[in-house]
Amino acid sequence: MLLAKGYEVHGVLRRSSSFNTDRIDHLYQDPHDPGARLFLHYGDLSDGSGFRALLEQVEPDEVYNLGAQSHVKVSFHQPEYTADVDALGTLRVLEAIRAYPSTGREVRFYQAGSSEMFGSSPPPQSEGTPFHPRSPYAVAKVYAYWQTVNYREAYDLFACNGILFNHESERRGETFVTRKITRAATRIKLGLQDKLFLGNLDAKRDWGYAADYVEAMWLMLQQDEPDDYVIATGQIHSVREFVERVFDRLDLDWREYVAIDPRYFRPAEVDALCGDASKARKKLGWQPQVTFEELIERMVEQDLELARQERVL
Ligand code: GDP
Repeated sequence: MLLAKGYEVHGVLRRSSSFNTDRIDHLYQDPHDPGARLFLHYGDLSDGSGFRALLEQVEPDEVYNLGAQSHVKVSFHQPEYTADVDALGTLRVLEAIRAYPSTGREVRFYQAGSSEMFGSSPPPQSEGTPFHPRSPYAVAKVYAYWQTVNYREAYDLFACNGILFNHESERRGETFVTRKITRAATRIKLGLQDKLFLGNLDAKRDWGYAADYVEAMWLMLQQDEPDDYVIATGQIHSVREFVERVFDRLDLDWREYVAIDPRYFRPAEVDALCGDASKARKKLGWQPQVTFEELIERMVEQDLELARQERVL
């Protein structure tokens, strides 16, 4: 989205011995190309001095902190790592930005908050709803949220929290429930798999389309004043309903293929999330474009195509 808006974009990449850029490979440009506008740098949210050096080198106008150990279930297995990267990682970025204006330039900062912060506070959730986090991930995000607010109030930084409800797309990681379902159902349809194991089917979420949501992040940084915003569709569906709709689209009866594996249950669950994004609608002029049905259609179509390619191989 930023490239399409004409930005020069600098991304931070964690070092891995195997390639980990699949989801942005289609955007890659040879940095020797004089027209290149996408540049990648090695970095890690656990490495504050590296980030400070990068800030001096790149001199960005806007920083979007979307980095995190972002899987809720994994955060129960790796609570300390999750806190280091998601909570302290945000603090490291904020400290670097606070210390940075050696050049006198203002950096606008976007912090990826999460609807998980609301946890067991009942829906509808809006900016005024109390947080009651239910996982190490959510607790870390609450810390990052309040640090962002505090840096805004204490140091006058242009810092915003987006409180985004679940946002999905064809590029969603395959261990999140929506993509896990569309991948498995399409592979079952083509005879590549015969079972899908899931956890709690009763959980309810407000699922939107990621491309709509990134527009909201950008809009927050274009305002006259920094503020915090809930971004959501205001529609709620259960995991069971998501499963049903995906299998229905493929003319399959989900009950024949889906089994419950308690391994996917979480020690503490977030039962129901449904956001009230009235503030974003009023102040940012933002509203989602892609409906729940269209979201499912896009994900199923793409995963059918991937399954077809897999079958040919
Ligand atoms: P989250 O809302 O950030 O935790 O996003 P997820 O897509 O990981 O999970 C959404 C909901 O689906 C949660 O309430 C999970 O407990 C539930 N769920 C049920 N089965 C599964 C599963 O097999 N994998 C995942 N990731 N979630 C599952």
